[in-house]
Amino acid sequence: MYPYSILALFLLVLGGCGDEGKGEEGLVREDLGKVTTDADGGVTLPVDVPEDAVSALITCGPYGYDVLATADLLVDPGGATIFDDDDPEATAMRVNVEDDFLPMLMPVSPDLDVQAGEHQLTLYVDSDSPVTVSCGAVYRVQPVEEETTVDARLVFVGVDGTVDTLNAQYAKTEAVLTAALAEIESVWARAGITLGEVLYDDFSGDTDSYTVIDDDKEFGDLLRTVETPGDRRVTFFFVQDITADDGATILGLSAGPPGAAAMGGTSKSGVVVTTAAWDEADPGGFLGRLMAHEGGHFLGLYHPTEKDGSGHDPLGDTPECSDGDGDGQVSTSECGSNGADNLMWWAASDGASDMSADQGWVMKRSAAAH
Ligand SMILES: [Zn+2]
Repeated sequence: MYPYSILALFLLVLGGCGDEGKGEEGLVREDLGKVTTDADGGVTLPVDVPEDAVSALITCGPYGYDVLATADLLVDPGGATIFDDDDPEATAMRVNVEDDFLPMLMPVSPDLDVQAGEHQLTLYVDSDSPVTVSCGAVYRVQPVEEETTVDARLVFVGVDGTVDTLNAQYAKTEAVLTAALAEIESVWARAGITLGEVLYDDFSGDTDSYTVIDDDKEFGDLLRTVETPGDRRVTFFFVQDITADDGATILGLSAGPPGAAAMGGTSKSGVVVTTAAWDEADPGGFLGRLMAHEGGHFLGLYHPTEKDGSGHDPLGDTPECSDGDGDGQVSTSECGSNGADNLMWWAASDGASDMSADQGWVMKRSAAAH
């Protein structure tokens, strides 16, 4: 018996009486209009964060899969630089480099909380010619509770047959998936997060195109099928394989960090996981940690130490590791309790299931949490 099935039943009985803070009432959406980059690829726009916001998700796009964008500079209402692409680790803010659609989340660390008032965001789009994009913001104004819930939707994309009876109907009682959801419950509980309602859907689009994800466009186009404007949950797409350019095995892939939380119709609107976990010795536990990890990225978490040891998350209470043997990669055996046992460790491993208080602090502020 798992709490999420009790919650699902509870909601069914209430029949839409509303779940405090779960819907649009906890969010403020703002259209920031269209902006066009100048000859250097930059454009500055004001972002006025409301007084009661606990987080601000600013987005710009789409600009296509062949083009990359990031923030060049972010200045707070007091005139302080809170992100500078020339030295991203100088502050506790992070902005990724993304194709097609750029989500930017404040805050991604309690060391740099969100401030109300007019920020100045300088967007940089790496293109030879001016690019016009639509920008917007989702401000979460719902206060943060001690215990926070994250709902999920599982979408099965042509994997029935790859794994026996893995479609929306049978997944509800499928042993590996049931164990995986229990593992997510157990791991996220360490950060004060409860896995809430879980919906099961079969993919309604062209399953043949997305059963194997072999480029960024397929990944983005699949995530784009999340409904607009998107509800407050994390959508997990199950596919057979994700193929990397360099031949590496990719077990799961999240938009971001952060994903476009509470936003549908964008190439950053969800998470993709593969059915490779079913071949593992402890498939439920492995899949659960994989989903909890990718869901963590979607909600705003970074790796404590990146694969090559060059970068670290902006959190003060997650362990850091450096490339001691100088082989260009921080390995799980090299880093042990210096990060390899954290859920957000860059490589999948049996021991990676710890969560820190700061990680929970970030996840609880996502627009996808309530
Ligand atoms: Zn990761």
